[in-house]
Amino acid sequence: MSLVQRVQQQAQHHPTKAAFSFMGKETSYAEFEGSVAKFAGALKASGVNKGDNVAFLLGNTPHFLISLYATMRIGATAVPINPIYTPDEISYILKNSDAKVVIALDLLLPLVEQAAGAFPQVSNYIICETSPETPEKLQALPDAVKQKVKSFTSLLQRGEMILPVEVAPDDTAVILYTSGTTGHPKGAMLTYENIYSNARDVADYLQFSPEDRVLATLPVFHVFALTVVVNAPLVTGATIILVPKFSPADVFTAAKEQQATVFAGVPTMYNFLYQFPDGNPEDFSTVRLAISGGASLPVALLHNFEEKFNVRISEGYGLSEASPVTCFNPLDRDRKAGSIGTSIINVENKIVDELGEDLPVGEVGELIVRGPNVMKGYYKMPEETANTIRDGWLYTGDLAKKDEEGYFYIVDRKKDMIIVGGYNVYPREVEEVLFAHPGIMEAAVVGAPDPNFGEQVLAFVVLKDEKLSTEEIQEFCKEKLAKYKVPTRIEILEELPKNTTGKILRRTLKEQSAK
Ligand code: AMP
Repeated sequence: MSLVQRVQQQAQHHPTKAAFSFMGKETSYAEFEGSVAKFAGALKASGVNKGDNVAFLLGNTPHFLISLYATMRIGATAVPINPIYTPDEISYILKNSDAKVVIALDLLLPLVEQAAGAFPQVSNYIICETSPETPEKLQALPDAVKQKVKSFTSLLQRGEMILPVEVAPDDTAVILYTSGTTGHPKGAMLTYENIYSNARDVADYLQFSPEDRVLATLPVFHVFALTVVVNAPLVTGATIILVPKFSPADVFTAAKEQQATVFAGVPTMYNFLYQFPDGNPEDFSTVRLAISGGASLPVALLHNFEEKFNVRISEGYGLSEASPVTCFNPLDRDRKAGSIGTSIINVENKIVDELGEDLPVGEVGELIVRGPNVMKGYYKMPEETANTIRDGWLYTGDLAKKDEEGYFYIVDRKKDMIIVGGYNVYPREVEEVLFAHPGIMEAAVVGAPDPNFGEQVLAFVVLKDEKLSTEEIQEFCKEKLAKYKVPTRIEILEELPKNTTGKILRRTLKEQSAK
């Protein structure tokens, strides 16, 4: 079974059921399947064959869904790229991934014009029209560029439907470039089995049903969205509500008007929604399940949000290399605040020491993962692959512990741990305390060099109460934390730097503090 076959089945069993809705217009499973079959035919006619790589520079619009399923239908490999990366970052990925065709939003036409001569291996650029001016702009392109540029809409209209090409479970379906800590991003190769199994297991574990309406505002090029708000709903025959850009007003309006039953977000989204003055519980009254992942959800925020919106939040955990989900708080047992929950179906998680030996309950070590969701390896990086996957286990680089009931707790990224005079300080523990202060809106903690103790704890905060002083914050921390964990320096910022998935960029803060 593959994702493509599942969608075919949904189209046969419930042809008129909505697969997704976009800007208030619903597209049925039968229409979706038809578009996928036609666009796959058009891609094939444009020279894309089984095993070729197709790069996407797309956001949360139907183009992404159609392109993804059409690419998989011909047994090719999708390479979703964050469209707001810098030209240098995009160039690196286009080259490294050997992309043969690029499918891009029309907003990126200026970039495509520049790229057209620069990547000889790219035979075609397919432009997705979102603005009425785009057809004219395509006509006005210089001839040399025009030869390589095609319109998504006309390909879709003219494409001849094709049947799905047979694929092996181990063929690569998607390559996801993960933002490495040093050097260039690495392309995690996820197989057809990886992405199908994770979507199916997440859907089962979180009890998705065809009646669900899943709000998709997380950026679809990121693995969290790809599995949880795109593939899992489609596997189940549920409906995806595409919200192109995250804003609290858009999310609340879409949730209410379109009767969303599932919402998925990263912690910063929950914070924005919670702080939004016009948000009220009615907006989320149809939501049965709120999902958090991608970074740790501060416990104070979890409780505040649940209370205000009368909805249960289930926190989970994952990483690109695991397609991504490995753990979630179960729906049929306790939801434990601060925990990423228990292992989902078919996936094993365990905690090991530096030598890879199992650690007992309660002890902190590295979280390692095994299951049908673990990637095949990094594209063209055998050494990195061998370092990351050992004896069939994926080493996540995250420090965690487990309780006696099998619930896991992420302590921090291994590399983010701060060592003050030989003592370990986990930024997350300090951030939880800062977050619990009613005058603080957001907080992030990093290590900074210290001449006496090796490192010192540095906190960045965004204030809700502008009168709050750094001394008062330090006093508050002293009541709750051992002395060596209390931030020695606190900087007040207007906002914290974040990536497009809403994760706080600790690296940028570190660089900022060094300056
Ligand atoms: P990515 O590959 O971009 O999805 O990033 C994966 C990383 O995000 C993991 O290795 C963790 O460090 C972090 N992460 C994901 N979910 C959580 C969570 N619930 N709590 C803490 N960290 C998380």
